[in-house]
Amino acid sequence: LATDQGKDLQKKDERYIWHAMRGSAPVSGNLIIKEAKGAWVVDIEGNRYLDGMSGLWCVNAGYGRKELAEAAYAQLLEMPYFPMSQSHIPAIKLAEKLNEWLGDDYVIFFSNSGSEANETAFKIARQYHQQRGDHGRYKFISRYRAYHGNSMGALAATGQAERKYKYEPLAPGFIHVNPPDVYRNPIDEHTLESAHEVDKVMTWELSQTVAAMIMEPIITGGGCLIPPQNYMKKVKEICEKHGALLICDEVICGFGRTGKAFGFMHYDVKPDIITMAKGITSAYLPLSVTAVKREIYEAYSGNEQYDRLRHVNTFGGNPAACALALKNLEIFEDEKLIERSQVLGERLLKELEELKDLPFVGDVRGKGLLIGIELVEDKESKKPASVEIVNKVISACKERKLIIGKNGDTVAGYNNILQLAPPLSITEDDFTFIVKTLKESLRSI
Ligand code: PMP
Repeated sequence: LATDQGKDLQKKDERYIWHAMRGSAPVSGNLIIKEAKGAWVVDIEGNRYLDGMSGLWCVNAGYGRKELAEAAYAQLLEMPYFPMSQSHIPAIKLAEKLNEWLGDDYVIFFSNSGSEANETAFKIARQYHQQRGDHGRYKFISRYRAYHGNSMGALAATGQAERKYKYEPLAPGFIHVNPPDVYRNPIDEHTLESAHEVDKVMTWELSQTVAAMIMEPIITGGGCLIPPQNYMKKVKEICEKHGALLICDEVICGFGRTGKAFGFMHYDVKPDIITMAKGITSAYLPLSVTAVKREIYEAYSGNEQYDRLRHVNTFGGNPAACALALKNLEIFEDEKLIERSQVLGERLLKELEELKDLPFVGDVRGKGLLIGIELVEDKESKKPASVEIVNKVISACKERKLIIGKNGDTVAGYNNILQLAPPLSITEDDFTFIVKTLKESLRSI
């Protein structure tokens, strides 16, 4: 940072803030951002960057939307808070709207973060089986490389070694299987070997002990792993065979990121429980959702023990967050952001295809505006590229004012996937800038 004010803020930032703990320090230092508009953020020195990672935080409608701020402000003036043990108008309207988006009959439980939405799903899944007199089901199956949150249960479901490092013992009862990785194992597309692994593990763990499987339709933070087209449907069938529920984590895939309203919609399945979070408000305010199929909710009603159950939180369904979410969904509909994500994503993939000519680019893949570029040491062995190479590319982009990130797993040795996920509202100029900068940066290595 060049200016005195910049240096002073940097010092205070270092002194007072314990930042997110990451496997590696941010490439070429922290940015301190003071304003943001559309796809662009401005740091305290006035440097502008296109935030190509904002999609992982789900700023899907873009930064600086006055109408979102106004929706929250108006609600704060009218009625700022009431607990969801009772109810209020923005929550009712939002729950109804979500059912419209889901195209099916789900009952909505509100919380504050993706982690909490998943925790809620785990608790409901276990309790649901017990409500029906099936007392032995407590285990959850999840996948290596997936991320499901930072609280103890969600962390136990997480399959990334780096996220769990030195937090053990984790919550018991979480079993992991391998996710499909069609770049490294293309035959999976035909054999669905990775889905059969779910079947085998449920069998060996004893079906009667399994409460649910949790999965993202597409593994996002773990490296943009797009499954074989029939994988998720097969997994759902396997869950049904074993009497387990399917929890679908839509925390990143949801709200248009992959070119459909929700990621599961690519795969012709109806999950039993769906979790959503940041994308619902484009990350402007904390709000999350555990959407539960009506049959599951109904298993609770009429049960004499219902009064003894407790799962409450203070801020979930906050009226201002719900009002903002409703406005956010309206923007999505008015500006056709989901279709935009799909069309721009396809165009982007076509544009970036030529990067595969570079000796260290193993794969370029994506769905909607979720793009992964897998870097390798050589194409024959597909050995993951070193983190130094990956960081070089990220730095080269940053020098040219494009923020991208890396995903994967530092501890397990897969930290080699560049991640690009700009807001769904990017302009044609933004699109051109992204393509040009990525190509230049990768070719400069
Ligand atoms: N699930 C997925 C797929 C996520 O990517 C994340 C966070 N990025 C979470 C859950 C946890 O969400 P939160 O950070 O809001 O707790």
